[in-house]
Amino acid sequence: MRVRFAPSPTGFLHIGNARTAIINYIISQKTKADMVLRIEDTDLERSSGESEASIIRDLKWLGITWSEGPDTGGRLGPYRQSERFEIYSTYTLKLIESGKAYFCYCTKNELEHMKKGDGGSQQFEYNGRCRNLSDEEIRDFKDQGRKPTVRFRVPENESVIVRDHIKGDIVFNSSNIGGDFIVVRSDGVPVYNYIVIIDDALMEITHVIRGEDHLSNTPKQILIAAALGLPVPEYAHLSLVLGPDRSKLSKRHGITSVDAYRSEGYLPEALINYLAMLGWSTENGEEILAIDDIVNSIELASLAKSAAIFDFQKLRWMNGNYIRSMPLDNVMEKFMPYIEKAGYGATDTRRLRQIIDLVRGNCEVLSDITCFLSMMLDKTIAPDTEARAMLDEADSMKIIEAANEYIDSAEWNLSFKNLADFAAQKSGAKGKKLFMTLRAIITGRLKGPDMEAATRLIGRETVAERIKSCCHKYRTRHEDQ
Ligand code: GLU
Repeated sequence: MRVRFAPSPTGFLHIGNARTAIINYIISQKTKADMVLRIEDTDLERSSGESEASIIRDLKWLGITWSEGPDTGGRLGPYRQSERFEIYSTYTLKLIESGKAYFCYCTKNELEHMKKGDGGSQQFEYNGRCRNLSDEEIRDFKDQGRKPTVRFRVPENESVIVRDHIKGDIVFNSSNIGGDFIVVRSDGVPVYNYIVIIDDALMEITHVIRGEDHLSNTPKQILIAAALGLPVPEYAHLSLVLGPDRSKLSKRHGITSVDAYRSEGYLPEALINYLAMLGWSTENGEEILAIDDIVNSIELASLAKSAAIFDFQKLRWMNGNYIRSMPLDNVMEKFMPYIEKAGYGATDTRRLRQIIDLVRGNCEVLSDITCFLSMMLDKTIAPDTEARAMLDEADSMKIIEAANEYIDSAEWNLSFKNLADFAAQKSGAKGKKLFMTLRAIITGRLKGPDMEAATRLIGRETVAERIKSCCHKYRTRHEDQ
């Protein structure tokens, strides 16, 4: 068995395509199939080497590997479509010589008139005008300087069956696929629907696993295969990934490129876990699964037929799970770039370890660490909006004063419990109000790690400093009022 992932290098790796790559990879692992990476870069204007490099980098980051591809080579290369134009020309010649394809001289304007319906629902169907041109007509068109495209002669009224592991058998009628379609553009560049099936055949791909958006293209590809006597692979079209409002997943819904997920501090393990399980579940409902478990449990036929909704919150939650459960040394290594970026790279390693150990449970993505570094290491802190609102409440002042009194007292030691007991007694406040106000004074946030441990880590001098400056600030404010 051989599978392939065939991205078009026109930008960063999209999360939906990453899912296709992941499913291909997992199926290849499960079945010991070869995995091919093919770069579909015939859109010469939109494709770029940088995009190809970034896609390869992102795939590797996810932990996806392939046995053949543009970077690794292989016996059935080249693996970039732009390097295979000669191969395609041979097939085009075959099609033309056997009358299965023909030159079409229609202009853009003429084609425009073949659209049916009106407004947004216009459907194009080629009317076959150039199917049987006389020599004279061809000469005239050439004299006018028209550059022809090559069109495939679609047989009429034939059933084309797409055998799909996920969707079942889908029958198309060849008369309903838009008429004779272009296989080579007037600039000589062959089109996707034509060359994809040639490459799948020549690269001996047995199973094409790809997004459902390509399902409607499949009959065209099968007709080309039949015309050229090439084998047709088995198909598995993965259901679409939609945003929470059930429209196509886009930037409007949130971040959509693997690159952006990496920068924000998602772990490849979490993305693999989430994306691989978008659209199927295990029998016992387990959601956190390592790739090996997924390889064991997944079956192509059990993947969902209907669209999967991308749940950003759930992915965050899952990522937090991985951050919490990873060995401390490993997670520390993952946090390091974020720590350096935030300017805390020179901090004593032991102290950083203690901080990460304490706050990683509060981090759903690695970049969440930034606010905790400032919370644990800065001399002064700026309370966030929620904390400010809490401190602004009328009855907070007496808690602030009590805390201030505590650090000036002989009892002052670095125990949050002692501080809270003292402040409770002096201010009469208790419960959540007392606790949250003290948290806001010391950490500038209303949420965060265990306060007893946090207080110790922040340290005596800084805790005292923060209480003092908070008290000073609020006293001044009250005096001003
Ligand atoms: N290059 C196509 C894409 O990126 C994939 C085509 C295929 O898998 O057949 O959408």
